[in-house]
Amino acid sequence: MSDYPMYALSEEHQAIREAVRAICDAKVAPFAAEVDEQARYPREAAEALQAADFHAPHVPEAYGGAGADALATVLVIEEIARADVSASLIPAVNKLGSLPVMIGGSEELKQKYLGRLAAGEGFSYCLSEPDAGSDAANQKTRAVRDGDAWVLNGTKRWISNAGESEFYTVLATTDPDARSKGISAFVVEKGDAGVSFGAPEKKLGIKGSPTREVYFDNVRIPADRIIGEEGKGFEYAMKTLDHTRVTIAAQAVGVAQGALDYALGYAKERQQFGKAIADFQGLQFLLADMGMKVEAARQLTYAAAGRSERGDADLTFFGAAAKCFASDVAMEVTTNAVQVLGGYGYTRDYPVERMMRDAKITQIYEGTNQVQRIVMARQLLAGVQSEI
Ligand SMILES: Cc1cc2nc3c(=O)[nH]c(=O)nc-3n(C[C@H](O)[C@H](O)[C@H](O)COP(=O)(O)OP(=O)(O)OC[C@H]3O[C@@H](n4cnc5c(N)ncnc54)[C@H](O)[C@@H]3O)c2cc1C
Repeated sequence: MSDYPMYALSEEHQAIREAVRAICDAKVAPFAAEVDEQARYPREAAEALQAADFHAPHVPEAYGGAGADALATVLVIEEIARADVSASLIPAVNKLGSLPVMIGGSEELKQKYLGRLAAGEGFSYCLSEPDAGSDAANQKTRAVRDGDAWVLNGTKRWISNAGESEFYTVLATTDPDARSKGISAFVVEKGDAGVSFGAPEKKLGIKGSPTREVYFDNVRIPADRIIGEEGKGFEYAMKTLDHTRVTIAAQAVGVAQGALDYALGYAKERQQFGKAIADFQGLQFLLADMGMKVEAARQLTYAAAGRSERGDADLTFFGAAAKCFASDVAMEVTTNAVQVLGGYGYTRDYPVERMMRDAKITQIYEGTNQVQRIVMARQLLAGVQSEI
């Protein structure tokens, strides 16, 4: 074998894709419409993913996890999103919530929480607040040291899988005058006294993933629940997003592929003017553009996953680029899938309108696509971007 770069998945990675797809065909896709219609947690998917160790595949083997690399984790999330974006938030949010611990946490903290995550207890990420969205450093949640404890007060907004997760990485200011350098990160447990949740938001899409406010009312936690160093929380939170934006890109590629697959099948079946609509060149050009863009988004996402795995210096650019490009593609492709189905696509009898609604969130969370373009421009102007 030459060492010529093949730009192809290894056999192991292909096997992961096939294994996840089999689970999704059996336990995720059949419930996706009902989960959306009833805005309920995808319990069947959660149980099947956990049984196969795909609920938090990124947890290293040393802590009892599957030890999936960044590309394998992307493949898991992509395949689940192809069937149901709501269910794909299970591994995506578990990675998002726990990565600050993996990046900055003490060995004791990793031992304590990563094993329980691998065993099935979820992990959410609490950065956003009512007044801290794109301006994430504008944290109002306060953590004050009191003897051998930290006491937290404040409100987090838009927290994915809140209420379902047992653990929460919470960003809070420990020095309000120092802005981002005065922010620290903590692990808070669902059962800690003073933690409560708002009602689930009524959303356009990803209705199977509960999004709720989380309230901290004099929550007293042991001092060793701080993640890493005091004042470094914002740095850990931003490093986390560099990696997890690649997983949002994976969600986007997955939902776009799901919509394309459905549109292709439909176009071959549906007859108008005495022939399959797939025979009309006007529709073929639309399908060709959809396939071309999904594949371009996939390649950029996998390239970003490689950078995430290696921790390359240009991950910040690639994570933002993959998330932004793939989510814009997902919105376009799912909207065009509705077009391919005509009036039928506009109804809940077919899955593509759900996919279109679900795709929209990938342009918004983990930083809107306007914010991704700010991030990319800063990286380009600073000269941080390799060519391959
Ligand atoms: C379903 C859902 C799940 C979420 N899950 C989580 C979660 O688990 N944890 C978490 O911490 N957060 C979560 N979020 C929050 C999400 O990351 C924020 O909604 C997002 O970062 C945008 O913040 P915002 O909604 O306050 O919008 P704003 O910041 O108010 O932005 C409004 C508009 O202004 C634009 N804008 C803002 N600043 C600029 C600028 N400088 N230049 C150009 N345009 C700008 C934005 O792009 C956007 O179009 C979730 C959100 C949703 C809807």
